[in-house]
Amino acid sequence: QKQKVVIVGGGFAGATAARYLTMWAPELDITLIEKNSQFISCPQSNLILSGNRSLQQLIHEYEHFQADRSIRFIQAEVSAVDTDKRQLWLADDSRVDYDRLIIAPGVEFIYEQLPILASPQAQLHVPHAWKAGPQTVVLANQLKAMRSGGVVIMTVPAAPFRCPPGPYERACQIALYLKNHNPTGKLLILDANPDIVSKKALFTDSWQQQYAGLIEYQPMNPLETVDVASLEVESFFDSYKADVLNVIPPQKAGRVAAMAGVINVDNRWCDVDYLTYESSAVERVHVIGDAVSAKVPKSAHIANQQAKVCAAAVIALLRDELPEQQPVFSNTCYSFVDGQQAGHVAAVYRYDKDSRDMLPHPSGGVSESASEQEGLYAQGWAENIWADTLG
Ligand code: FAD
Repeated sequence: QKQKVVIVGGGFAGATAARYLTMWAPELDITLIEKNSQFISCPQSNLILSGNRSLQQLIHEYEHFQADRSIRFIQAEVSAVDTDKRQLWLADDSRVDYDRLIIAPGVEFIYEQLPILASPQAQLHVPHAWKAGPQTVVLANQLKAMRSGGVVIMTVPAAPFRCPPGPYERACQIALYLKNHNPTGKLLILDANPDIVSKKALFTDSWQQQYAGLIEYQPMNPLETVDVASLEVESFFDSYKADVLNVIPPQKAGRVAAMAGVINVDNRWCDVDYLTYESSAVERVHVIGDAVSAKVPKSAHIANQQAKVCAAAVIALLRDELPEQQPVFSNTCYSFVDGQQAGHVAAVYRYDKDSRDMLPHPSGGVSESASEQEGLYAQGWAENIWADTLG
């Protein structure tokens, strides 16, 4: 009988793992379970806010998986996991068995501090837009409808969160919209962190040179309360009134990780063995992507690389071969500072046997300034990773 590998989550991590498992180990019985009918890319979704991308351009179908006979693609939500019996259940109560489970659920938002924002109705007024999709369009429409001279407030949670440069790229795109359509408007960034978390020089250059007078950045000023009706907010230092309010909430591993009992770091993230991505809490359960507790950034690029290391290790474990890997992988993350120009941060990480951790290797770097050439590279990066993830 074929050994069963089940992957939950068809995002950057899970879909990549599924694709490479089918390529590398056709002898396995592979199932990919994804709750959404389409894949929507977070990378480039900030450009929707300036009008430089449409949501349609970021939507991809799961047609490769639907057509591929070497994989079972189930569009359903996983609602329960029993790791003793090695079974999981779908929302329609059907059961799926596994020998090895790969969990790649991305993130879920933490609303303990701001429960008022947890409801879908509240999020129509105060979108997070931190999972690309309808909320990204809501936020873009709110910007378009904003009164002349209005104030946009964006709040950034304390790190770690999905996509460290993402909020600051978003600031550029909002400021670009204001510059072109509402030049007396303003963007106020209330950041819980002591400083810009990633690509600081790139963003501060752009804010000073391209968006002078449009962006006010306040570090160490976490959001404390929100009035959803009036859009009044209180932060650690002061209170403000927004015309458009974008709260990026703190995050933790997606709910399936909690169902499987693999959240064991700060009540938020999943500790794994970086050679196999097997959970340190539950055997035969692997975790990849943003849900993993790691010193590497929570990026699509990293999710893609973790997926390949994990796929190779799962195959080796199922063949009873001890995985003899010393993984090395890279991260490249582009950020657009306007419609055409981008800059990058790149790093290489290598498995260190002594600390059993993925440590930064002395290489990589950051763009000195943004350019249109890098904007083309950023587009190439996106097209490549979409193709590598989805086939
Ligand atoms: P996801 O891609 O979120 O996939 C998780 C999947 O699991 C989802 O499809 C979800 O529907 C599914 N799922 C969850 N629960 C269940 C369930 N119970 N049952 C079934 N399915 C389930 N990264 C970069 O490298 N470069 C960038 O330029 C970049 N830009 C970004 C810009 C923004 C605005 C944002 C928000 C993020 C950006 N990122 C970027 C980060 C990147 O999107 C994430 O790191 C990446 O999506 C993580 O992949 P993942 O597979 O862990 O999670």
